[in-house]
Amino acid sequence: MSKQFAVIGLGRFGSSIAKALYDLDHEVMAIDVDEEKIQENLNNVTHAVQADSTDEVALKSLGIRNFDVVVVAIGQDIQASILTTLILKEMGVETIVVKAQNQLHAKVLYKIGASKVVFPERDMGIRVAHLLVTPNILDY
Ligand code: ATP
Repeated sequence: MSKQFAVIGLGRFGSSIAKALYDLDHEVMAIDVDEEKIQENLNNVTHAVQADSTDEVALKSLGIRNFDVVVVAIGQDIQASILTTLILKEMGVETIVVKAQNQLHAKVLYKIGASKVVFPERDMGIRVAHLLVTPNILDY
C-alpha cells in the first residue's frame, strides 16, 4: 500500500531517501529552504516545495500533519533540526525520523519525541562492516 512521506532537507541523505521512496511508488513531498535544491529534485518526488521548516505556519499550510512519516534530514543546522522536530511533534505527526549529528543531538531529539534517530554515516559503516564479514549475502 502506498504511503505518504515528507522529507525535509534535500542534502545527499534527504534527496536519496526521497528518490528511493518515490521510486517505490510512494507519495513524497520534499521540502527545502534552498530553491536550488528544489529545482534539482523536482523530477524525483511527487511535490517539491521551497519552505523553511522552522516556520510553523509554513509547515501547517503544507498539511504536513497528514503525512504518515516525516523525515528530518537537516544536517549542519542542529537548531533548525530540533525546532523542526518539535514543531512536527506538537502538530501531531505520528512518525518522525531524524538525522542526528552527534549523541547529544540524538538525546535531545528523542526527548522531544522523535520516533527514530539515525546517524547515516555511522549506520552505513556498521552495515558495510557486517557485509564484509558475511559472505554470500546480497544486500542493498
Ligand atoms: P548531507 O550529508 O545529507 O548531504 P548535511 O548533513 O550536510 O547533508 P545540510 O546540507 O546542512 O546537511 O542540510 C541538508 C539540507 O537541509 C540542505 O539542502 C539545506 O538547505 C536544508 N535545510 C537546512 N535548514 C533548513 C530549514 N530550516 N528548512 C528547510 N530546509 C533546510
